[in-house]
Amino acid sequence: MKYIDFRSDTVTQPTEEMRRAMYEAPVGDDVYQDDPTMTKLEELAAEITGKEAALFVTSGTMGNQISIMCHTKMGDEIILSQSCHIVQYEVGAAARLSGVNYAIVNNPNHRITKKDILSKVRGKDIHHPPTSLVCIENSLGADGTVLTLEEMKEIYEVAKENNLAVHLDGARIFNAATYLNVDVKEIAKYADSVTFCLSKGLSSPVGSILCGSEEFINKARKMRKVLGGGMRQAGVLAACGIISLEKMSKRLKEDHDNARYMAEKLNEMEGFYVNANNLQTNLVFCKIDRLGFNPETFKSRLLEKGIKIGGYDDSKQIRFATHNDIKKDDIDYVIKSIQEIL
Ligand SMILES: *Cc1c(COP(=O)(O)O)cnc(C)c1O
Repeated sequence: MKYIDFRSDTVTQPTEEMRRAMYEAPVGDDVYQDDPTMTKLEELAAEITGKEAALFVTSGTMGNQISIMCHTKMGDEIILSQSCHIVQYEVGAAARLSGVNYAIVNNPNHRITKKDILSKVRGKDIHHPPTSLVCIENSLGADGTVLTLEEMKEIYEVAKENNLAVHLDGARIFNAATYLNVDVKEIAKYADSVTFCLSKGLSSPVGSILCGSEEFINKARKMRKVLGGGMRQAGVLAACGIISLEKMSKRLKEDHDNARYMAEKLNEMEGFYVNANNLQTNLVFCKIDRLGFNPETFKSRLLEKGIKIGGYDDSKQIRFATHNDIKKDDIDYVIKSIQEIL
């Protein structure tokens, strides 16, 4: 059975062009920094984010964790949002790998403001751990919304006034840039380090990129080795990453348009509610609490029709992620299937 897979943009298949590029890529030993394709990808990523240097890592999680390892020392405290990926989906790695304490901000809109940072930063009192880092996301994984440049700037400025580094988990920074209609570097300039995923909407099979100053990336390269992430002929992966940056990053508006189309269609049906004000990128969060369906039941009924969706049991919310392998026809098919189920 051919599935239409809305669970995440991570399910994207590498394109034909990527498969060819993998086959043809000149490669070398990247631990010796001898892989020309990898070097090309890292230079391109640094240029696009406006940073001095970049490092290919196996996943967004590895990029975030290396960044925390580089920005902090054991016993520090880091400020971050309750709903963020680092808190929710990284197996508590920052406690294990960096030995840091979390100062958690818990706003309903998942954002961290100047006021939050000022209330959380500490270190002068003998009882308190020193704060060294603020971690933010753009776009936000929790609801797919985008922080404005003004929000980013305010966070960055107050962090600098308080001697804090800023790490941006930009897993979907290209979606954020597409929504804001700005270059990625306009967002990245309000952070000392930034990670983004090649393996989500940008369709690469594997990998993320960590960017920052030359000094930061030299340290990060060493930390990647600590984690066993030194890779050899990784140019076969970098070849896909180059296509992600040069080509796939330019088609994300199509995913955003498809997400809007999907939301409109869902909102036309009784019992489905998508908050259109929060629909800024490719993640469609849909409430079905008035439907009388348990999300798990609903998901399994859709699966019988060849449709996979994501969702969260506790919030009675389902999630559809649009991406390169979802076309408008697929959305029509899903809507028709939902009507049949109802
Ligand atoms: C996907 C994602 C990551 C990284 O995920 P990996 O599966 O480790 O690549 C990090 N942060 C956010 C906000 C994400 O959505």
